[in-house]
Amino acid sequence: MKISQRASHIQPSPTIGMAARAKAMIGEGLDVISFAVGEPDFPTPEHICAAACAALEAGHTKYTAASGIPELKAAIVGRLQTEFGLDYDADQVCISNGGKHALMNIWKTMLDPGDEVIVFAPYWVSYPVQIELCGGHPVIIMTNSSRGFQPDLDEVREAITSRTVAILINSPSNPTGGIFEREILEGLAAIAAEHDLTIISDEIYKHLIYQGREHLSIAMLDEETRQRTILADGVAKSYSMTGWRIGWLVGPQQFAAKAGSIQSQETSNPCSISQYAALAALTGPQDCVAQMREQFEQRRDFFVGALREIEGIECNMPPGAFYVFPDISAYLGRELAGRKIATSLELAEYLLEDSLISTVPGSAFGAEGFLRLSFACSVEDIKRGVERLKAALGA
Ligand code: GLU
Repeated sequence: MKISQRASHIQPSPTIGMAARAKAMIGEGLDVISFAVGEPDFPTPEHICAAACAALEAGHTKYTAASGIPELKAAIVGRLQTEFGLDYDADQVCISNGGKHALMNIWKTMLDPGDEVIVFAPYWVSYPVQIELCGGHPVIIMTNSSRGFQPDLDEVREAITSRTVAILINSPSNPTGGIFEREILEGLAAIAAEHDLTIISDEIYKHLIYQGREHLSIAMLDEETRQRTILADGVAKSYSMTGWRIGWLVGPQQFAAKAGSIQSQETSNPCSISQYAALAALTGPQDCVAQMREQFEQRRDFFVGALREIEGIECNMPPGAFYVFPDISAYLGRELAGRKIATSLELAEYLLEDSLISTVPGSAFGAEGFLRLSFACSVEDIKRGVERLKAALGA
């Protein structure tokens, strides 16, 4: 059967792929320690599940408005106001089937063939693929662990062409956990203003920031920047609601309306029950978020400490998100257990097959020489995983 050119180039998401492989091996009875997927291991808080049951009982089982229920839009703009002082109207929101879908809506609404989007590497695996699927061209700018993965603003200026339409920011970042400092955000905002670019700010990890540090959205810098920014977000990471698939974009009213029109043609509304659950998440008690964050912070401290003790591994302390992103380049080019390991992919394969540890290779994020390990798992698993890692590396 014919397969389109577009589809023939597509590979499955490596994060989802690695997690699925680990799950399948666990299903076969193997004791795999999974550091692959970015998915909180906590159950969805009880009051959120109860709201979903109540929505079912109340008969909220039919189509909703394609871009989401008004109550959830109001809750989203309410939270942006109270938490970050950002003023939006409910008609500036389009609610989708997860943050990933919200991003896809953004690219579809924004991009014409050949339009360029500046993307910082290491990047989340799906950004370049999504942009290309929508006819755009991701222009990758590398950032370095030695600078805490902060971009060089001169490199951004040099990368801009007459086709550049947007700059994509993901702070805190998946996979590095890095957070763009205020002066970097200010520099990017100035560049965007100078070249009349849109800023897309994926803030899915905004509640997972450690050591008491607070989230700074680029939209908070000034009114002009806010107006040229589109926020992408969702409930998955903050409320341990990955499977419920609720995310959203917030931006100019006309943009949100167009995204809603695309969605009404493509998928109709996101799941009605999930929308009511997300409403309870945003309007209910928030201590669950703080409790999960505390646990993540303890795991992060332990994980980084343990990795830094392994000879040859260098690991930044991630200020946000729930990933460690160690530099493992010292182990590339070596022979481990009789296997020649040349790339981060070969190392990840070796770790999974030989030591039953699932990770995601840095190459999937545009950063060869690194591995991503999620600490959305117990300290016990982290301890066992690091022991296995040490043994596998012969360290
Ligand atoms: N964002 C998560 C991760 O990076 C979930 C999987 C995905 O959608 O890529 O692991």
